[in-house]
Amino acid sequence: MSNGIHRTPVGSVAGSGTPSLLIRGGRVWQDGRLRDADILVRDGHIAAVGQIREAGEQVESLDARGLAILPGFIDVHTHIDDRIGRFTLADDFCSGTRCAVENGITTLGTFVTESTDVPLEKALSSMTARAAGNLHCDLVCHITPTRFDAAGWQAIDAVLERGIRTVKLYTTYRQSGLYADYDQIERVFATLGSRLVRFLVHCEDDMLLSRAAADIKDWGRPLAHAQARPVAAEVAGIRAVLERAETQHARLHIVHVSTPEGADLIGAAKGDLDVTCETAPQYLTFDAGWLAREDGHRWICSPPLRSSALRLELVQRALQGSFDLFATDHCAFRKADKDSGRDDCRLVPNGLPGIGALPHVIYRLFQKAGGDGLFALATHLSENPARMLGLYPRKGSVSTGADADLVFLSAGGPGRPVRSSLADTYEPYEGMESVLTVQRVLLRGVPVVENGKLFDPGNRRGACLWEI
Ligand SMILES: [Zn+2]
Repeated sequence: MSNGIHRTPVGSVAGSGTPSLLIRGGRVWQDGRLRDADILVRDGHIAAVGQIREAGEQVESLDARGLAILPGFIDVHTHIDDRIGRFTLADDFCSGTRCAVENGITTLGTFVTESTDVPLEKALSSMTARAAGNLHCDLVCHITPTRFDAAGWQAIDAVLERGIRTVKLYTTYRQSGLYADYDQIERVFATLGSRLVRFLVHCEDDMLLSRAAADIKDWGRPLAHAQARPVAAEVAGIRAVLERAETQHARLHIVHVSTPEGADLIGAAKGDLDVTCETAPQYLTFDAGWLAREDGHRWICSPPLRSSALRLELVQRALQGSFDLFATDHCAFRKADKDSGRDDCRLVPNGLPGIGALPHVIYRLFQKAGGDGLFALATHLSENPARMLGLYPRKGSVSTGADADLVFLSAGGPGRPVRSSLADTYEPYEGMESVLTVQRVLLRGVPVVENGKLFDPGNRRGACLWEI
């Protein structure tokens, strides 16, 4: 069969018409390392891992010799199927989750944002309806509340009742209505902290951003965008949010850390506080020199790309394990939209695509430095993101009872171009090749990808995890 699955009836299991799947001969991620093991998958879950002689039921067998099998990857931070400012994002649920699963990502995290027109519960219901039948991988959702009056708190309560466990807060973006001052953020920590919520916080000090922007004379150069969002703003934002979280014992996750100093502050707080952090592949790959190019506006994102010295320091932090996880902040705009503000970088929509690049960039980064790329993927793209989301060990592990989200990898090449998005977007990683091949992906026990491509694009098996 073209998908490499062979049916071997060896009996039948009472009460189940679906054959189980026995994966033989792979190197399986277990207890922090790769080991030779078989995996028995039954009803979408892992039923056994180890040397399995006899499945004792009707099984299909899958030969994984020569392949590493890791828990499906998780990109906790993406913006898809949404509008940002006056732009509709290039990726909808279908294209974003397809790009994900074809690159071994079996769970995506995205955001539902309350606005003055759309209350939180309605925004969540609307997203759930849009996602239904359009997901190639599973979806988790972080809520961004923006109203903190009685009705706002009630709405937050209602969505937490629906199983949402992550709340996003911003220390800036006044014009978009996202801004919360530090006192407000502390009140949110105090009010929701006992609900087992983790707070995802965008940290850039709003006052320092305003001051820096006031000093910019020429907005025609993309570099002005980076000058208007200085390192000091991120560092001050992180420091203030850590202090408030410590006072309230809040569980924190700092998103898209782009500065070594920011990473160090978070590292120092870890003894006293349950705090995790992420950086994104763009901050590890590109520096502000890219903004100086003729087409530099294509690399405008927030926080901005930093100097080459800071990028190298950030890479060192990544290799040393300062970042619990890597996530893309995928925010892809169509080419025409990205070009629309070429002459004034304030008009260029902020954000880069990244979903399809994530495993490849991280694998390359660790391998090139003499590290273990597969270890980095299993730790920083599977286990740690699942823990941060409160989904471990159901997600992020190859263990009995876990969802059978499995990615089968080979790392011998040939090199293939990295592709961040399947939509009409500029490719930031143009020219980069990866020797990491996603040979096969199982989503909750069902093989969905073979040789980096979906078997059946019409068959969308992903689920909204807050619904099941
Ligand atoms: Zn984001």
